[in-house]
Amino acid sequence: MHLDLVNSSGYMLRNKLCRTCGIYRPPRCSHCPTCDNCVERFDHHCPWLGTCIGKRNYPYFISFVLSLLFIIIFIISVVLHFMV
Ligand SMILES: [Zn+2]
Ligand SMILES: [Zn+2]
Repeated sequence: MHLDLVNSSGYMLRNKLCRTCGIYRPPRCSHCPTCDNCVERFDHHCPWLGTCIGKRNYPYFISFVLSLLFIIIFIISVVLHFMV
């Protein structure tokens, strides 16, 4: 069961009903079974952060991954500097 909508640019939007939440999901929205709610622009459920990665925290997730990358590069360079 779904409700079809047409937006301003004439593109057909298909809103699917989430049976658990009882709402019509917008496109790219997905239900997370771990958090038990629907997440807009759902990317994945992050086990490290313990939350969903979606529309509202995607920039923060990217900055988290980048800062993790810089910390790893820093630790490896320190280890190579003092151990080698
Ligand atoms: Zn849902
Ligand atoms: Zn989740």
